[in-house]
Amino acid sequence: MATKMKAALCFGFGQPLVIEEIWIDEPRRDEVMIKISTCGICHSDVLYIDGAWGGSLPNLFGHEAAGVVESCGSGVANVKPGDRAAVSLLRSCGTCYFCERKLWSQCEYQFETDEPRRLQLQNGMSVRRGLGTGCFAEYAIVHKSQVVQIPESMTMTSASLLTCGVITGFGSVVNTAAVTAGENIVVIGVGGVGINCIQAARIREAATITAIDISDEKLEFAARLGATHTVNPSREDPRDLVFELTERRGADAVFVATGHPAASEGVFRFIRPGGSLILVGMPSNGVNFSFETVEFIDANQSIMGSKMGSANLSADIAELIRLYESGALELDALVSSTFPLENINEAIDATRAGEGMRNVVVF
Ligand SMILES: [Zn+2]
Ligand SMILES: [Zn+2]
Repeated sequence: MATKMKAALCFGFGQPLVIEEIWIDEPRRDEVMIKISTCGICHSDVLYIDGAWGGSLPNLFGHEAAGVVESCGSGVANVKPGDRAAVSLLRSCGTCYFCERKLWSQCEYQFETDEPRRLQLQNGMSVRRGLGTGCFAEYAIVHKSQVVQIPESMTMTSASLLTCGVITGFGSVVNTAAVTAGENIVVIGVGGVGINCIQAARIREAATITAIDISDEKLEFAARLGATHTVNPSREDPRDLVFELTERRGADAVFVATGHPAASEGVFRFIRPGGSLILVGMPSNGVNFSFETVEFIDANQSIMGSKMGSANLSADIAELIRLYESGALELDALVSSTFPLENINEAIDATRAGEGMRNVVVF
């Protein structure tokens, strides 16, 4: 039995989403159907909607969600109907080449949720599900590995942030770069990902955490959540401050948490010999940056990409919930504004304009 539901669909890149009633089918053996309560707007949704990554249309985006489990297939044991759960685009079979190597974000299993015709317009036309989730809608069907139970202590709004912005920023520090106590960290871009790089570096007891952003308001927020120093590069060269803080050696690790093309240019000037650049903010297709190769080799530096914070969804969300409950991880203050589904385009415009940490659609 298919279910009729309201969904905000993308029919044309760069155009506002359109709310339509569409059909969603039933969860299969290893799948979970969630009644969506909240869904954050991520920069990846905006990039997709604006056509930065291509893809077929019509498409249903939204991948940072929380809700209540409506029904489950017979192979699902991690949640049951009635449970409160967070929903992520991260999915893993647990047994493929990459899952065995703990690179869950690269899982190569062909998930049945990606099959066409599982979402249909009233006229029978298939709707694609961007990023394997499709949560700008009243219901979503996802693989069981994409849901994690959340406690009563956490609001749905805060819980929805966990599965993309929080886990990505946090995981890039804890998993990808494995930052340890006493290190000097720089975070470029204080958005939904960067603010969680900062929180993770604070929790990991970094010696200094320097936040770089062109918005003074965002830098103030960064200082509230753990940045020990802030720099607005439109007024000051970040290298001067980083050198001052590190006996002129440079930072141990620099996290680029924005997809802005200029963000990585010149970054190696303030990374110490043996230090790392971690690229975590997603840019549009075709974005490049250049650096002086001989200096990079001479300084034994490295570059790492961090997709979704190299996270293991269930283990890392459990740790984030523990940190939230202990007071170490701030989530509630990351929610800037909430919008009803009818006003989703306002929420998308606010995110595109860089307003706030996270704008969240509430059903
Ligand atoms: Zn995202
Ligand atoms: Zn796999």
